[in-house]
Amino acid sequence: MSGTIQQPIEMKYMKEAIRQAKKAAALGDVPIGCVIEYQGKIIGRGYNRRMADKTVLAHAEILAMKKACKKMGDWRLEDCTMYVTLEPCPMCAGAIVQARIPRVVIGCLNPKAGCAGSVLDLLHQEGFNHQAETSVGLCGEECSRMLSDFFKELRKKKADKKAGEKAGAKDAEKAGGNGTEKIRTSSQLPVKPVGQEGHGDGEEDLQGAADDPRQEEQPGTDSEACQQEL
Ligand SMILES: [Zn+2]
Repeated sequence: MSGTIQQPIEMKYMKEAIRQAKKAAALGDVPIGCVIEYQGKIIGRGYNRRMADKTVLAHAEILAMKKACKKMGDWRLEDCTMYVTLEPCPMCAGAIVQARIPRVVIGCLNPKAGCAGSVLDLLHQEGFNHQAETSVGLCGEECSRMLSDFFKELRKKKADKKAGEKAGAKDAEKAGGNGTEKIRTSSQLPVKPVGQEGHGDGEEDLQGAADDPRQEEQPGTDSEACQQEL
């Protein structure tokens, strides 16, 4: 990875990408945002809408590229710079190469799915007919914190829900009668080995709900990766 970050103009674009990411979080989607700049103007904005739109194609970068292409009247996005809060996944990195975007500024790294050097380095692959220059770490801490806060909140909601369900089951148990046995069965279900059960509350459920490697890395690791890069 190479490239010098020119603040504060670049910071302004990354802040807008962060603003986009927050829209995703408001809809319950993982907060990832993206903007595309051309000659000092933003020509495309996007935020992760995978859950909202129920499609894996609705990543922030793809949506921003769609808008930018429409604005440019061209599938090529030459002379544009992309600002994205999280290192692009294989799909988005592929699209960046296809669109010939010359420069990508990345907020923080994605150690489990990033394709600008973390898992693969699709943006700097010499065999392709296009390579993008990348800069990593602009507003990195903020981008990373946004993700870890989102997942913290998600885990909390799940824990609260579970606690609520348990309380509900106990109340029903107290009520006695025919329901008692059934409820006992469900609250004592030995479905998982004990060790797994305790661990499963957070991460495993999170992955199940999230259903994307982009989301596995968030608690902890990516902020570390980010700081290293900074
Ligand atoms: Zn993507």
